[in-house]
Amino acid sequence: MAEYETYDREQVYKEQYRRFMNMEVPPCTRCGSGATASVQVGVIGITIRLAATCSKFKLIPNGPKPGEWFCQSCGKFFDVPYKSNEGATT
Ligand SMILES: [Zn+2]
Repeated sequence: MAEYETYDREQVYKEQYRRFMNMEVPPCTRCGSGATASVQVGVIGITIRLAATCSKFKLIPNGPKPGEWFCQSCGKFFDVPYKSNEGATT
């Protein structure tokens, strides 16, 4: 009787996993490492599983986010500035 629910969760997990693994992640602004992850808030079943299995998924229990991205190499949160600097060029 719980089979449908289990199946759905499995599907959702796989879709999310694929989505994050195919995601373009920016390099770390501090150390330049490419091993970075998208920061997600909220500990629910599927996010716990994704955090454990997906290297581009960083889970924190509560917001606000310390940054949009997390560097696996230096362990820091960071933001990519290109969207907040409107009109500014580097
Ligand atoms: Zn880094």
